[in-house]
Amino acid sequence: MLNNDQLAEWDRENFFHPSTHLAQHARGETPTRVISSGDGVHITDRDGRRMLDAFAGLYCVNVGYGRTEIAEAISKQAHELAYYHSYVGHGTEASITLSKMILDRAPDNMSKVYFGQSGSDANETNIKLVWYYNNILGRTEKKKIISRWRGYHGSGLMTGSLTGLELFHNKFDLPLSQVIHTEAPYYLRRKDTAMSPAEFAADCAAKLEELILAEGPDTVAAFIGEPVLGTGGIVPPPEGYWEAIQAVLKKYDILLIADEVVTGFGRLGSMFGSDHYGIEADIITIAKGLTSAYAPLSGSIVSDKVWKVLENGTDENGPIGHGWTYSAHPIGAAAGVANLNLIDEMGLVENSGKTGPYLQKALTEALADHPNVAEVRGEGLMCAVEFADTTEPLGFFDASRKIGPSISAAMASRDVIARAMPQGDIIGFAPPLCITEAEVDHVVGVTVEAVKEVLG
Ligand code: PLP
Repeated sequence: MLNNDQLAEWDRENFFHPSTHLAQHARGETPTRVISSGDGVHITDRDGRRMLDAFAGLYCVNVGYGRTEIAEAISKQAHELAYYHSYVGHGTEASITLSKMILDRAPDNMSKVYFGQSGSDANETNIKLVWYYNNILGRTEKKKIISRWRGYHGSGLMTGSLTGLELFHNKFDLPLSQVIHTEAPYYLRRKDTAMSPAEFAADCAAKLEELILAEGPDTVAAFIGEPVLGTGGIVPPPEGYWEAIQAVLKKYDILLIADEVVTGFGRLGSMFGSDHYGIEADIITIAKGLTSAYAPLSGSIVSDKVWKVLENGTDENGPIGHGWTYSAHPIGAAAGVANLNLIDEMGLVENSGKTGPYLQKALTEALADHPNVAEVRGEGLMCAVEFADTTEPLGFFDASRKIGPSISAAMASRDVIARAMPQGDIIGFAPPLCITEAEVDHVVGVTVEAVKEVLG
């Protein structure tokens, strides 16, 4: 077996890591962490250090680590048939079964699933489908896509444009011109502090309508949003937000894409965030929780309304000109079937609905009175603590002080992983959905110690 020093050297010399400070890593200023195994909510590195992963990888290992049921399904599929494509009507028992299982769980108006590999490529597919849809309907000018500041939808050319975080735009010549951003439903950071949550929700919808009118409703094709803002800060919307937004979209015949890459399959305590918030989407994006990341697989769930137009389109134009080699990859599909069965058998949607509020309550009781805690918030097993220099009036820390990363590092030194979210001093929690109350108590205890270490 290679020793750790050798691996660290090869890592620095050869490995281009995503979302990493490349220069620091190449200089050896940031550590190489080699993770070697996982069980339940824990991962273990090559030094034998076991850590509680309260962010489920990148909020994706929903059933927890080390589930042999999924490993065996993957192995069986790989032995029988590792690959065949899904073009022109081909499939496998796993891919056909999985599409039915997804539709059985999805909102009633959904009709078909297109499979990809990642959340990013699924959202790329979605935008192509929206453009195709409007071309088939003869609405050739209706092409702009509205997303929210702080939304996260991937890091491809289109999806990096949809993502409303400047780090994903700067120096990449993004966003593309067809993408426009509107206000995030981030009540804590509202400009007019006199607004109630209901007034703020109505104001977000009014701002969206203003933007649509300014651009011209005949040029706006779709709105994309996560039911709960994720990477942008883990921010549940104020009550009434989705109702108000959907009323505006309906008025101007604009499609709604619900990006459920994080919220799909139980994270909020409901099977989908769309059920949770009464969102009637035209297209739903799924990934992460679809296989609990045991294999890369994503999907675009298309509604009846969109599907009918796509069918007409192929009658007029021939086969749809969209497909990936790995669409509906058999190994991903086998992992998906085993994973969805496990979610049911382990009662994970229910556990998320029960343990999520327990986590939020415990964090609130432990931290809400701290002078630097601006907010403890969450929905299901997506929770966040946001820190500020002053809370009355609200004044955020200078980013250079790196308060969020320091707290996350102090937690990691105590063997608990929580994520310093990329914009703001925000610590995010999104553990595997199998986490127990005792494990939550441990996470909260460590969070309190880390906050004390960094902020006193
Ligand atoms: N959409 C949402 C809501 C996400 O959180 C992510 C990733 O975190 C993506 C899309 C992109 O998925 P991927 O990283 O698999 O491309």
